[in-house]
Amino acid sequence: MNVMAKVLVANWKMRPRTEREAFALARASDHPQVIICPPFPFLPGVRRLLRHAALGAQDVFWGSEGAHTGEVSPAQLRALGVRYVLVGHSERRALGETDAVIAKKLRAAHDAGLVPILCVGEDKAERRAGDAKRAVLRELQVVPRGVRLIVAYEPVWAIGTGVTDRPEDTSQMASVIRHRLKNSALPVLYGGSLDAHHARAFLEQSDISGVLVGGASLNARMFHTIIRIGMQYE
Ligand code: PEP
Repeated sequence: MNVMAKVLVANWKMRPRTEREAFALARASDHPQVIICPPFPFLPGVRRLLRHAALGAQDVFWGSEGAHTGEVSPAQLRALGVRYVLVGHSERRALGETDAVIAKKLRAAHDAGLVPILCVGEDKAERRAGDAKRAVLRELQVVPRGVRLIVAYEPVWAIGTGVTDRPEDTSQMASVIRHRLKNSALPVLYGGSLDAHHARAFLEQSDISGVLVGGASLNARMFHTIIRIGMQYE
């Protein structure tokens, strides 16, 4: 059972197009319960204007330095004021990110002082076959000992589809996740087509520590409504 303020993560993915739009969105989302994860190029500018929200990155490399073209190290993110990082998002797993890589990223992010937000969730076939729990437990096997993290339960079939999980099912999955990681205080978020209409049903569940919002976090008014709902619950 979690008695902390709800955590509201905004995953902007590869949007918006311009820095100007990014700054407007960041200003509108700047609240102490929010973690904003902009694309890499907008991190420094968004950092400068945030007064309340924390900054997150959408990915990180596991190495600390060297010849790794295109990668960004945990220390480089820390130096920019980043405190959180998404790891193992299903959109990255779909591009070939493996459990072994995810394990290394979790360790490296933690060792550099970042808090990883590990994304887990079953796909449509696994859900249909009644294998959701097994799929999530398999993905949790990569969590290294001693790593402090947040888990985002994001069923793959719910991401960007307009279909959400049932809050009671997410609540149950949150208990499964906490039990597996032997941490009753572990923050477990829900992600997947969450918008202002569905936010209350998830945020009012005491077992759900917050939400990870993709598409709806790019709509300033919609995300503002989600923040207001989030403020009402612990
Ligand atoms: C996500 O990107 O993790 C996500 C939950 O996206 P959406 O809210 O758009 O489904």
